[in-house]
Amino acid sequence: MSGWSINFGKVGKLGRRRRKAVKVPRKVLPRIYSCPKCGEDSIRVVISRDANTAKVSCGNEKCGILAEVPVAKVEQPVDAYCKFADLFHSGKLV
Ligand SMILES: [Zn+2]
Repeated sequence: MSGWSINFGKVGKLGRRRRKAVKVPRKVLPRIYSCPKCGEDSIRVVISRDANTAKVSCGNEKCGILAEVPVAKVEQPVDAYCKFADLFHSGKLV
């Protein structure tokens, strides 16, 4: 069996090249959203993972809009906020 020579020695000779660490800025989603009713940046989203719902409420006491929307496991507060805004714009919220 000649001609079969596996030279393990060469494996990995290229070694590790130092890669420049590129920092990928993680997108930070805002926790506070603007209220579709009063326009203030005072909407808070509290997700209840157990119940698969999110409480979306406006912290502006003059406004006080509040809704509970269903959220799927993979959904984020921003998704809940979108549903909330949709509800509002479709006139289902007061
Ligand atoms: Zn509001």
